[in-house]
Amino acid sequence: MSQKIIFQSVTGMHDILPEDYFFFKKIEKQVEEIALFYGFERIETPILEFAELFFHTVGQSSDIVQKEMFLLKTKGDDLLALRPEGTAPVVRAYFQHSMQNLLQPVKLWYFGPFFRYEKPQLGRYRQFWQFGFEILGEKSPALDAQIIQIFFDLFSSLKIKNLVLKINSIGDKCCRPYYKKALVSYLKSRVHLLCPDCKRRIKENPLRVLDCKEEKCQQVISSAPQILDYLCENCKAHFKLVLEYLEELGLPYFLDPKLVRGLDYYTKTVFEIFQEGKEEIGALAGGGRYDGLGKILAKKELPAVGGAGGVERIVSLLREKTSFEEKKPKVFLAQLGEKARKKALKLFEEFRKAKILVRESVGKDSLKAQLRHAERLGVKYVLILGEREVLEGTIILKDMSSGQQTKIKLEKIISEIKKRLKNN
Ligand code: AMP
Repeated sequence: MSQKIIFQSVTGMHDILPEDYFFFKKIEKQVEEIALFYGFERIETPILEFAELFFHTVGQSSDIVQKEMFLLKTKGDDLLALRPEGTAPVVRAYFQHSMQNLLQPVKLWYFGPFFRYEKPQLGRYRQFWQFGFEILGEKSPALDAQIIQIFFDLFSSLKIKNLVLKINSIGDKCCRPYYKKALVSYLKSRVHLLCPDCKRRIKENPLRVLDCKEEKCQQVISSAPQILDYLCENCKAHFKLVLEYLEELGLPYFLDPKLVRGLDYYTKTVFEIFQEGKEEIGALAGGGRYDGLGKILAKKELPAVGGAGGVERIVSLLREKTSFEEKKPKVFLAQLGEKARKKALKLFEEFRKAKILVRESVGKDSLKAQLRHAERLGVKYVLILGEREVLEGTIILKDMSSGQQTKIKLEKIISEIKKRLKNN
C-alpha cells in the first residue's frame, strides 16, 4: 500500500535534484567563464527588496507588479517583495554603492533564484533561476550587440544550436508617447475585438497588447501601427547601428515589431532568444536597453543595457541530449569489524588528501552488503579491511574485473592505487 505523502513542495517551486544540479553547475560554470572573459564581475543582491523598488521600475501596470509579486509585510510594517527580476536590484546596488565613481561602464553578472507568482506550466515556475549580465554607464549601441553576442557565446559553449534572435526597438521618452497615442487610437477603434485583459491594457499599458497571445487579439495586432515607423532620429540611428553590429558579428536576427517585453524600464533595443522548434518553453533569454532606469531610481542619467537567461529552460534542453555523468569513483573501501571500521575512517581521509575519489559504506556491518554496494557503483577496485588485516598492517585489494585479490601493506595502498589508476 503506498503511503500518503504529507508534505509537498509549494506549487510552482521545485527541488533541484542531483541529476539537474549537475546541469545547473555546468551552466553556472560557463556563465562565469564567459562573464570573466568579457570583464564582468559578480554581484549577488538580496532575495528580498522593498516592494517599491519594483513598483517604480518594472512598472505599476506590468504583469509582474499587477499579478506576479510575492509580497510580505515585516513586523516593522515594511512591504517587501521576493525579487521577480534582477535588473532593478542591480541598478539599486549600483547607486547605493556609488559605482558611478568607478571606471565606466560597470559590468556585473549574477546567478540566483527569482520569484514570480505565475500560473505554473511548461518552462514557467514560481521560483526559477536566472543569470544576467548588466553593462551600466555607457550608451553605445555596440554594447547592445555585445550583450546579445554574450548569450550566443554561452549557448554555443553549451552546444545549444538553432537559435532565433528576435529584436525590436521600443523607442524612448521622446518618440514612444507618439507611438502610444497612435496605437491607443487604433486599439480603441477595435476594442470590441480584444480580450478583457487587453481592454484594460489599452488604458494602463497599451504596448503590452502587442504581445498578447489570445488569437482574437493577434488578429487585431497584425494590422496595428508599428513602432519602428515612429522612432525619433536618435532611436532610429541607435537601432540601425545595433543591427549593423549584429550583422558584423554574424548573428542573424528577426525584426519583431510585436516584441515589447512588458516592463516599463526598457528603452530602445529589446531582444529575446529562443530555440527553433522549442518556442513552447518560451524565451531562453531576453533583455534590452534601459537608459531611463537611473532617472527613476536615483534621478541620475545612467545609460545601460543587459539581459537575463532562464536556467530551468536551458537545463530542459541540456537534459534532452546529455545524460547526467557524475564523476564515477573507481575505488570502494569495505571494512569488517569495529577495529577495521576505525582504520577505514582514517584511511578514507588519507584518500581524500591524495585526491582519489573513493566510496565507502562505513555505516554497514555486513561485508556482503558492502560488496553488493561496490558492484552497483561499478568500481574497478575494492579494498577490504578485516580485523586480521588491521593486526597485520595490510589491506586486501580486489580487482573487480579479474577477481584477483592481493594483500598490500597498508602504508603502500595509496601509492599502489595511484599507480593502478594511472595505468588504466
Ligand atoms: P524575463 O525577465 O521575463 O525576460 O526573464 C528572463 C528569462 O528568465 C526568460 O527568458 C526565461 O528564460 C526565464 N524565466 C522568466 N520567467 C520564468 C519563469 N516563471 N519560470 C522559468 N523561467 C523563467
